[in-house]
This record gives sequence, structure tokens and C-alpha cells, in this order.
Amino acid sequence: DQTPPAPPSVAHGSALAPNYRPLDVVLVEGDGTWVTDVAGRRYLDCLAGYSALNFGHRHPALVAAAHRQLDTLTLTSRAFSHDLLEPFARAVTALTGTEMLLPMNTGAEAVETAVKAARKWGYDVLGVPDGEATIVVASGAFHGRTTTIVSMSDEREMRAGFGPYTPGFRVVPFGDAEAAAAAVDSTTVAVLVEPVQGEAGVLVPPPDYLPGLRRLCDERGILLVLDEIQSGLGRTGTTLAQDLAGVRADLTTLGKALGGGIMPVSAVVGRRDVLGVLTPGTHGSTFGGNPLACAVGLAVVDLLTPGTLQARAAELGTVLAERAENLVREGLLAAARTVGLWAGLDVEPSLGLSGRQTCELLAAAGVLTKDTHGTTIRLAPPLTIERADLETALETLAEVLRRR
Ligand code: PLP
Repeated sequence: DQTPPAPPSVAHGSALAPNYRPLDVVLVEGDGTWVTDVAGRRYLDCLAGYSALNFGHRHPALVAAAHRQLDTLTLTSRAFSHDLLEPFARAVTALTGTEMLLPMNTGAEAVETAVKAARKWGYDVLGVPDGEATIVVASGAFHGRTTTIVSMSDEREMRAGFGPYTPGFRVVPFGDAEAAAAAVDSTTVAVLVEPVQGEAGVLVPPPDYLPGLRRLCDERGILLVLDEIQSGLGRTGTTLAQDLAGVRADLTTLGKALGGGIMPVSAVVGRRDVLGVLTPGTHGSTFGGNPLACAVGLAVVDLLTPGTLQARAAELGTVLAERAENLVREGLLAAARTVGLWAGLDVEPSLGLSGRQTCELLAAAGVLTKDTHGTTIRLAPPLTIERADLETALETLAEVLRRR
């Protein structure tokens, strides 16, 4: 019998579709870096909603902004405007040194928006023949789950079974600007990459990669689009990961932390002449830029404007990097990649622990995080984490690995 076994939640009659296999933890409360489960057990949250909770759970300023707005106005649709829409756009563009913002909700929608803007700009401005635009993307990338976005993925698990695929993407190795250059031709409108690949395991490219892509795009007159949905808004010790490379993208996608862990809020920010091609009727979203999202997003920008959280991420990042290096030296990790308060840690294969098993042992010891790609675990605690809590999390990881 070739019938594959039913996934566990189907087999057990769960009403929930089986597209996730979470750790066996059922949470009921969050406060800063700490979360509590149904049995009253407390855990350090070192995943932080894949960086959506950069400011921790229920940051008082964000909760207050949301509460105020709940009592005022929550949704207008874009058929009308509201008093926070322009201020939100001004605040995010000022924070990111960009000219214009297009608001959406989820990360995938922001990426879709960037793809649409780049294609339309390519047709309208570059004169690429209609329907022929290509975009160069990176191997191992993660940009979301829509059918067009899985079409640019070369990850079997994300892609297989969801065709037919959207054409127009060329996948080249991540971190190699020359490979990207070789894939550009007269149909190419943009290069779209993550400045640091998050889901791939916090892969930090060589320092000359983003400057190389910037030069390439300038020389060929095409767009550099950087997906900062996971890397942006403080995680890397800078407001954007691209700041570390001294590069400014033509379009940047933001999401996750832009909603402060309260609301799905995403956006594309970038050049006026590029976003300007999305004229009335060509693109939109019922909820994009809604008053509640803008209220929370404005409060997020307020938290990031002084730069102290970014500096804190950089400072605590040195603690994270140092401790992770010690674990490599001790033979517990095969490799550690860190940037700011963000780490991809490869468990030493001879320990015989998968990333998933490591995360299960960590959860049992009171630290929550998530595995990716076999033996890799990633740490991305809230930027507001206390140094002592970060040290506890890393010591717990060391103990879990030493027990093998
Ligand atoms: N882009 C990047 C770099 C991401 O890390 C993610 C989510 O992990 C997305 C896009 C998709 O965001 P969302 O899940 O909000 O659609």
C-alpha cells in the first residue's frame, strides 16, 4: 500500500489544518521576553515570533497605542483616508531614509507588492516587452508562501505540489554578486534578496555582496529590492540590515516587527519614481494601512527612532556572538553565525541531535526557539531582553548540549 500515513493532527481528528508541527507548548500569556503556558510554566521566548516581537510581548507603549486606537477608529478601507495614514508613511520613510511607502498587512503581501512594482516599472520605464520581465532571486531564500513567491523558491518542501509556477524568476547562489550579474539580461527588472537569509539559518553574506549587487543594479539600470521583513527594524543592531553594508535598496520590504507583535503590518518603502507606477486601481488591500495598524506602526517607529534599541541589539549581540563561539570551541556547535541579536547555530552532528530535538530539550528546560534545516537552531530574542536572561538562555543551551 503506497498511501502515506495521515499527518498527526488529521489522524487525531484535530479541527486544525496540519500545515504546522509546533513544539508541544500551549501558551496563554506573554510579558516582555517571558511567556507562560496553560500549566503555569514560564519560558524565555528566544524566537520572538520570527522577529515580529522585537519589542517583546505586550510592550506597554504599543499596547497603549493599540488601546487608544481601538477606542477611536479601526478601519476605513482605502476608499477613504484617515488621520494616521500620511503620518505613518512619513514616519516609516523618515526612519528608513526612503521616499515613499505602500502599506500592506503580511510579509508575503509586501513581497508581492515589490514584485508587481518592479515588473510594472520595468515595462513602463525600461521598456521591457510586456509579459517578459525577469527578476533575479537567491537560492535558499524565504520570501513567503503565496503561489508566486513559492515560484521563486528552490526549496522543495515549500514548492513541490503547488504548480503551475509563476514564470519570470532566475535563481542564483546567495552571496555571489557575480552569479547575479551573469543572470541579468535585457529582460531583467530587479534583483530581489534578503540581506541576511533568516529562514535559511541566519546566513550572513560576504561583506562585498550587497555593495556588489548595488553596483550591478546601478550599472544595468535595474532595481535592488531587499526583503527586510525578518532582518529589519533593529534585529541586526542597525535599523535595517542594509545599513551594515552602507547600501540603500530601491525598494525594501518590511513586516513582522512593524506590527509590534500586535497586528500584521507590512509595507514596501523606497523610491518615489518606482512606487509611483502603482497608480489608482492597479494594486491595493482592504486592510493595508488601516488606522489600528498605523497607530501601532507609529508607536513602533517611536521606539526605534532614538536608536537605543538598535544599539542594545548590537551590544547584546556581542554577548551572543562570544557565547556562541565558546560553544563552537567546546565542540557543542559545528558553526555559529551571528549578526546583531540574531544567531543561526548548527548543532555538532556527532551529538546526534536534530535541530528539532534540540528545540524540544530547550523547551523542556524553559527556553523556546525554532529549528530550521536539519541541525540548525536560531535565536532571535526580543531586543528588549535583559542581559541576564540572554545569558540564561545560552547557558541552558550549553547544558542541554553537554548532557549528550
Ligand atoms: N520575507 C522574509 C524574509 C520572511 O522571513 C518572511 C517570514 O518569515 C516573509 C517574507 C513572509 O512573511 P509573512 O509570514 O508575514 O507572510
